[in-house]
Amino acid sequence: MKPLPVGSVIGILGDGQLGRMLASAAERLGFDVVVLGPNDDSPASRVAAHTIVAEYTDRDALAELSVRCDLITLEFENVPVEALQILEDMGATVYPGQKSLQICQDRHLEKSFARENGVATADYWMVDRVSDLETALSELKGKGILKTRRDGYDGHGQRRLQTGDDAVSAYDGLDGAPCILEAMVPFAGEVSVVIARRADGMMTCFDPADNTHKHGILHTSRVPSKFPDSVQTAAIAAAESLAGALGHVGVMACEFFVLEDGTLLLNEMAPRVHNSGHWTPEACLTGQFEQHIRAIAGWPLGDVSRVMDAEMENLLGDDVLKAFGDAGPEDMITLYGKRDMRPGRKMGHIVRKL
Ligand code: AMP
Repeated sequence: MKPLPVGSVIGILGDGQLGRMLASAAERLGFDVVVLGPNDDSPASRVAAHTIVAEYTDRDALAELSVRCDLITLEFENVPVEALQILEDMGATVYPGQKSLQICQDRHLEKSFARENGVATADYWMVDRVSDLETALSELKGKGILKTRRDGYDGHGQRRLQTGDDAVSAYDGLDGAPCILEAMVPFAGEVSVVIARRADGMMTCFDPADNTHKHGILHTSRVPSKFPDSVQTAAIAAAESLAGALGHVGVMACEFFVLEDGTLLLNEMAPRVHNSGHWTPEACLTGQFEQHIRAIAGWPLGDVSRVMDAEMENLLGDDVLKAFGDAGPEDMITLYGKRDMRPGRKMGHIVRKL
């Protein structure tokens, strides 16, 4: 692929904060951005040169996007794969491609893909009816996490089950959607690896970050990781092999559980820029948003060397109101421009120099 010329137009499917930060990075590199997403007055729309407000499978909207753009990417992994097919049928180039999306949208496909590529995961059982759940729970002595196969995010579409919990109400609580039951993993920590890959296979990888979660939502990401080099190197190698096997183009993130003995289990992959990489623009020579744009544009990838130790903390709901008051001189705050502050909603993040 020839490098995308400066002044070209990049389309982004998705209109949230990731789109906003991608659009800012693209604009800094001399590209214009067109956003397509379902929301009026979205965070990304207010940074983009042009916005198309429409559902992802709206053919007229996709036709307009493909005419306006030289290259199309995404910031949301639940964009229907059909939208990519429609765009490709119209002659558009979309990075990442359908395979990345298809596999990462479904927890069963994702885990089986990881295993086929030599990356271990937690044990899990397919749950398509209550009797499947009862059988799986009896093998797990009543404990596990029931997760919808698709459309789960930030702890939505999940139920933690303890011995004695009622399988019927847990399954009904997820509206009878196809699920998996995952064994509870007694992890020593969670790490994620944010990696960028170009169409020609060139890759760069940010330092693995240690993540903490609250109520299933990412709370902090910290670098350097507390885990030994051997664990970090293994996490990077696993992410490289998964990105290569997907033929992924752009940034993707792999989240792992780390067991006491250093064993890594893939939790999930995100075929896009990721919340656990939000420390990278401040703490590295090139941040994840710029790297994604460079990767899809076929530009030389940036140097991802880390220039400081850092911790990123998400600002949810009204956390954001006190963030400025609490911030020290070396704390860097990013706000997403969401005008409607709701409890638990991601409003911004702070990167602290450690
Ligand atoms: P997920 O949406 O699958 O990434 O889950 C969100 C968070 O819930 C993870 O980052 C973990 O902190 C926790 N979690 C998810 N699955 C498991 C599991 N099988 N065992 C223990 N904790 C889990």
